[in-house]
Amino acid sequence: MQDFLSKPLSPTRAYSFNDCQLLFRYRTIDKLPERPGAAAFKGTLIHSVLEDMFDLPASDRTLDTVSGLLPAALEKFLAEEPEVAFAIDESLEWPGGASEPSVESQQLLLSSARSLTAKYFTLEDPRTLNPSEREHHVEVELGAQKIHGIIDRVERTAAGDIRISDYKTGKSPKPAWAHKYWFQMKFYALLLWKSEGVLARELRLLFLGDGVVLRHSPTLEEIVSFETEVLELAARIKAAVLAGTFAPKPSKLCDWCSFQKLCPAQGGIELPLPYSPTS
Ligand code: SF4
Repeated sequence: MQDFLSKPLSPTRAYSFNDCQLLFRYRTIDKLPERPGAAAFKGTLIHSVLEDMFDLPASDRTLDTVSGLLPAALEKFLAEEPEVAFAIDESLEWPGGASEPSVESQQLLLSSARSLTAKYFTLEDPRTLNPSEREHHVEVELGAQKIHGIIDRVERTAAGDIRISDYKTGKSPKPAWAHKYWFQMKFYALLLWKSEGVLARELRLLFLGDGVVLRHSPTLEEIVSFETEVLELAARIKAAVLAGTFAPKPSKLCDWCSFQKLCPAQGGIELPLPYSPTS
């Protein structure tokens, strides 16, 4: 348990505690296995190609060239992480042994990934961009609490201005559902502000699902207040871990939750804690 509490908090982990504490527990403390999700893997594939794209000479960063990177990237994932087969081909029984996704399911995935890549090219021209960092890992300490995150892309101007960009393969959210996206972006801004002392000039979310870019320019007051929000959330997580109580929070998320049979809110039985609470 102390091991868990000493790990740095990521934006995903922090936000998932707000979504549902029991889901947070099963995923991050019990680490129960879940079938890899198709949408999540497609996101991973697109992210890897959009990252590798910037290794190409600027003039080669065209839709045809970048789309052409997708099959090799998929092949590499399948060779290095065989479990992604279960995300690609829903007809494969999970959990199961080593499996090959069908050719049709791979083609379907690649076709969808090509459409998303094409949408990306309607949002910006990567031939004009020169990111200073990609998949940038930053870890800082807020007092006794460590936090970290991996930022998709950072650009810097000669004057020192910073722009943070994040790719999303889904559609842009309605305003009522946008909070979790801005939570993640403010988390990144907080990480850079704490590590470099510079406040990002612009936070950008690129939604490839519907070709929408959302932008926000954070103020210092906003990031200072966000730091307090993160610390309060970290304190609530610590209190729940020490007490061993993780409340289920039924919502639309339950439809996709892998743990319905282990959830009292869904008529299931909660698993015993894998450790002894201390408070
Ligand atoms: S089924 Fe819903 S309430 Fe239960 S753990 Fe999953 S997300 Fe939480």
